[in-house]
Amino acid sequence: MSEAELRRALLDTTIAAQREGLNRGASGNLSVRSGNGFLITPSGMAPTEQTADDMVWMDLDGNAKGTRKPSSEWRFHRDLYVARPEFNAVLHAHSTFATTLACLGRDIPPFHYMIAAAGGKTIRCAPYATFGTQELSDHALKAMEGRKACLLANHGLLAAETSLERALALAVEVESLCEQYCRTLQIGTPKLLSDAEMDVVLEKFKSYGQNAQKT
Ligand code: 13P
Ligand code: ZN
Repeated sequence: MSEAELRRALLDTTIAAQREGLNRGASGNLSVRSGNGFLITPSGMAPTEQTADDMVWMDLDGNAKGTRKPSSEWRFHRDLYVARPEFNAVLHAHSTFATTLACLGRDIPPFHYMIAAAGGKTIRCAPYATFGTQELSDHALKAMEGRKACLLANHGLLAAETSLERALALAVEVESLCEQYCRTLQIGTPKLLSDAEMDVVLEKFKSYGQNAQKT
């Protein structure tokens, strides 16, 4: 895709994330890898106010090119693109249920097999650090080790994928899991899946869906 097409796709996904209920107002931010850097949403602007021209291009050293100020969270977007070459899109949201659990500061255990969609047997919660700081990015990258999504304590969620569409779908899935976990906790004690059961699911996911060999 050309940079112009990526700008448009980033704006469309930002609007879609709001429509899905992941973000309200100016909370959250998205980015997509573009050339030897990435395009990121502008800081403090609601999706409905943004245009494709407002997307800010940044190089991997964090130098911005554009008329707008980049998202205050450009550090964890940049650090994920540097550390994880498999990622082409990053989505951060303050969605209600993920944020509710993130305020408990606990990892989400394997209460449902779909936890494996985030890449492992739990969805980790990164310790709290002030928004926009390198400390937050460092915590986030550690929580993302071997994973495609994590919670950020007292803040929200982070999801990264090979494309914008997939990053949005993963964030919607994580938010849905968080809602299910919150509801389960309200009526009882969740029965967790064992390590062995999660190993089976993680193995099965390698060939699940349309992205892998037919089995
Ligand atoms: P930005 O508007 O700067 O992207 O900040 C929103 C946010 O979610 C900070 O964590
Ligand atoms: Zn945030």
